[in-house]
Amino acid sequence: MSAVRYDKKGSRGCPFSKNEEIKINIDDIGVNGEGIGHTDGYAFFVNGAVTGDYIRAKVLKANKNYGYAKLLEIISPSPYRTEPVCKNADKCGGCTLQHLTYEKQLEYKENKVKNCLVRIGGIGKEYLDSIMQPIISMENPYNYRNKAQFPVGQGKNGEILIGFFAGRTHSIIDTSFCCIQSEVSNHIVGILRNWIKRSRNKPYNETTGEGDIRHIIIRNGYVTGEIMVCLVVTHKDIKGINLLIKELVKLPGMTSICLNINDEKTNRIMGPEVVTVYGRDYIEGKIGDILFRISPLSFYQVNPIQTERLYKTALDYASLTGSETVWDMYCGIGTISLFLAGRAKAVLGVEIVPQAIEDAKKNGEINNISNAVFLCGAAEEIAEKVCSDKEYSYIANPDVIVVDPPRKGCDKKLLDTILNVSPERVVYVSCDPATLARDVKILRDGGYELVKARACDMFGMSGHVETVCLLSKQKPDDVI
Ligand code: SAH
Repeated sequence: MSAVRYDKKGSRGCPFSKNEEIKINIDDIGVNGEGIGHTDGYAFFVNGAVTGDYIRAKVLKANKNYGYAKLLEIISPSPYRTEPVCKNADKCGGCTLQHLTYEKQLEYKENKVKNCLVRIGGIGKEYLDSIMQPIISMENPYNYRNKAQFPVGQGKNGEILIGFFAGRTHSIIDTSFCCIQSEVSNHIVGILRNWIKRSRNKPYNETTGEGDIRHIIIRNGYVTGEIMVCLVVTHKDIKGINLLIKELVKLPGMTSICLNINDEKTNRIMGPEVVTVYGRDYIEGKIGDILFRISPLSFYQVNPIQTERLYKTALDYASLTGSETVWDMYCGIGTISLFLAGRAKAVLGVEIVPQAIEDAKKNGEINNISNAVFLCGAAEEIAEKVCSDKEYSYIANPDVIVVDPPRKGCDKKLLDTILNVSPERVVYVSCDPATLARDVKILRDGGYELVKARACDMFGMSGHVETVCLLSKQKPDDVI
């Protein structure tokens, strides 16, 4: 970068100034799916631009080594650019990769995992290339979600808004179509929109905390076709609910209609109380041969087809013969635990949300699985307790430990316990490659080696990627 440019642009040593127009080649994709262009070692992040585009943009913010710019014109489009299916793709926070071909999305996700494992995990690039299996892709990267969550609000002129939050904001973009939701969800939103208009219920106002209806949540059970509609409301006294039920039950598969009460001024979507107004208080879905009960508050993977493939990979990496004791930490409603139980001697599932553990136990029962036990609490605490408390001696020496933590990764204390317990294999299922790589490094430093890794695309059109890694205990003669 030239000194002249520094002198020209001001005291902070920044080579560009706000509102300046630039022309730039986009040569990379950022962690949130934004395009990145480099010029003289300086990086610009540009939403809506993709690798291979040559663009004109306006500088929004310029720091010393990197800045943000607004896309003004695509001077020459990238060969990887494709027309988004959804007209709101550039505004929505969900589908940041929709303007990229699906093949390029997969390449981006695979590279993201690889880069993290190399840079943060300390794995040699050539070695990683030799052990990493190709990403598990989706046949149809649209209409895959089994859970839709639409905020309800009011526009400036009093009109009802139902749709999604614009990227990183809380302003609702009104829409009746979302290309990653199931068709039935999009249809149900239409029914609810008409009903809210006709009923005298008011959409929620986030600023004042007034109004009746905050969110619409729709879940559908894969294979079973069962549907749940849950309205998040500020109180139970919702007007015209019987009319709504009458409309909704006309749809085949409608199994559960409920209200979730959330009267707090909070960003959290749901409150703790659920009132069922029609049918059962849960729906059922299937992953593989196992039936799962899904209640409004339970966590459940949103892409059932890819979830089955992800779990099959985890099962394959676990190499179970039927004689093993397995821990499944961060087990949610017991999905992975029950998936593994058929091939193991005993499985312990641990999860911090009490409702999820109740569901996990129930799921064990309805599938007649008797060799899985579930304990509620923080994985890092329970793991320690199981090791020290005689009551749990039958399950205290796992051969395989599976972890599937939230984005922040495993608690360091849990990783220490894993190293102490020293299972033959650790299968790490992750939704965040950066924290995965951080934890892989800790396990490698503690005597494990990464022997297999595979990314799985669970969230087409978004920048998120799921990964499964197998870490095996190094034998003394492996260590030189
Ligand atoms: N394995 C499950 C859930 C994975 S999501 C599945 O595939 O469906 C991660 C889960 O970890 C969530 O259910 C979350 O509630 C749980 N969790 C978060 N922090 C935890 C902790 N410290 N100890 C145990 N579980 C935790």
